[in-house]
Amino acid sequence: ALSHNVNEYYYFYHSQMREHLLKEADIESKMDKALENKEFVFFLQPKFNVNGEKILGAEALVRWIDSQQQMIMPNDFIPLFEKNGFILKLDEYVFESVCQYMSSRISQHQNVIPISVNISRLHLYQHDFIERYVKIKEKYQIPDQLLELEITENILLEDVKRVQTIVAELQAHGFLCSIDDFGSGYSSLNLLKDLPINVIKLDRFFLKDNYNVVRSYEIIKSVINMAKSIDIYTVAEGVETKEQQQFLQTIGCDMIQGYIFSKPLPIDEFNKYL
Ligand code: C2E
Ligand code: MG
Ligand code: MG
Ligand code: MG
Repeated sequence: ALSHNVNEYYYFYHSQMREHLLKEADIESKMDKALENKEFVFFLQPKFNVNGEKILGAEALVRWIDSQQQMIMPNDFIPLFEKNGFILKLDEYVFESVCQYMSSRISQHQNVIPISVNISRLHLYQHDFIERYVKIKEKYQIPDQLLELEITENILLEDVKRVQTIVAELQAHGFLCSIDDFGSGYSSLNLLKDLPINVIKLDRFFLKDNYNVVRSYEIIKSVINMAKSIDIYTVAEGVETKEQQQFLQTIGCDMIQGYIFSKPLPIDEFNKYL
């Protein structure tokens, strides 16, 4: 009986592996065409002031609407695209689409708010990354301080010196730079001393159920105070409850991005909001 079970397990394991590989191969065989066919679109999730009365900005989040009109979420393809390098093309495409969107609003004299775009760690190792992004920003004549680039916290620890140079250069070209998922890793506060970043985005797990625990409460409060004292804006991500919102209001967090106010929205719906 035992050997039977072992075989069964072995078979199961193998068929799962195979399915996984097939799925990856499937995605890889479709990604280039998908980009050509404009199947990648961005949604916008508004960032509000802490009491939810005013939209202060938005984050662009990519979605893949495939040929069967199925929506595929970033967590299902971004890890693979980071492995095979396709993320470099995709990020730049999303960035350019955002610039295009902003420039069309500007030319129609509609209000524009700052938009943040995620960039993969891989960009930091491309010699022409800044040049390419600056070129696109200039092509669409996007004014300074309206585009923000989000860099995930764990990258920053890898190579502080390199990121320091890149952040300074991006800022000199009118970009804002933020640390995404702050508090998800073991970032040291020294990082902020060495890195003149504009915004920190508190990871949603950093806040989860912590606001009523004294130690966590005090830690989050001091992170926000410290950020304020060195002119860094704070955005809390993934805020879902009234309790979290009230807590963030009490401790003086600048912005809230979360389902409590709005999910990421397709562009036309987002425009209605504005
Ligand atoms: P992220 O950059 O940390 O983006 C925030 C994620 O939290 C988004 O997930 C957003 O929909 C989700 N979120 C916002 N508010 C709430 C909330 O109240 N509750 C919960 N449960 N979730 C909330 P999404 O859109 O699925 O994106 C996942 C991740 O994929 C992003 O995390 C980002 O790391 C990555 N990503 C998305 N678009 C891009 C892109 O264009 N380029 C790159 N390199 N990465 C991207
Ligand atoms: Mg982000
Ligand atoms: Mg991110
Ligand atoms: Mg985040």
